[in-house]
Amino acid sequence: MLIGIGYDIHRLIKGRALFLGGVKIPYFKGLYGHSDGDVLLHAIADAFLGAIGEGDLGRHFPDTDPRYKDISSLELLKMVYELVKKKGYHILNIDSIIIADRPFLEPFKSQMKENIARVVNLKKELINIKAKTEEGLGYIGRQEAIASYAVTIVEQT
Ligand code: MG
Repeated sequence: MLIGIGYDIHRLIKGRALFLGGVKIPYFKGLYGHSDGDVLLHAIADAFLGAIGEGDLGRHFPDTDPRYKDISSLELLKMVYELVKKKGYHILNIDSIIIADRPFLEPFKSQMKENIARVVNLKKELINIKAKTEEGLGYIGRQEAIASYAVTIVEQT
């Protein structure tokens, strides 16, 4: 078994749709990025890459590559999962945290888990998502950014 950790943060800006866990969430700002800016899926993908010793998302999907412009991060996660399988591993579980002062994310967690479960071939019960706030502190507290952490354990198939 191997463990991996992932982290990501993106800026919140006006004029972008907000995607977290592959769910389009109604909010007046969205996450800036070359892809759709889905920090949760980026943290999970980085955790997978970490577990199998394959560097990070930026190495596999450079933000200078037009193929990944505005791509759904569910597609990126799927490609990373294919690499996990190719290396001879499967996912045992995922635990994650989204840090956002707004919007309130609880109503969207179940759909996020379903999206991730479908892409990485894992039971929904083995995916955990925690939503935390920064209590108004710093740039996340000022709703200028959303961050995410994820850990995963993979096992040789
Ligand atoms: Mg990112």
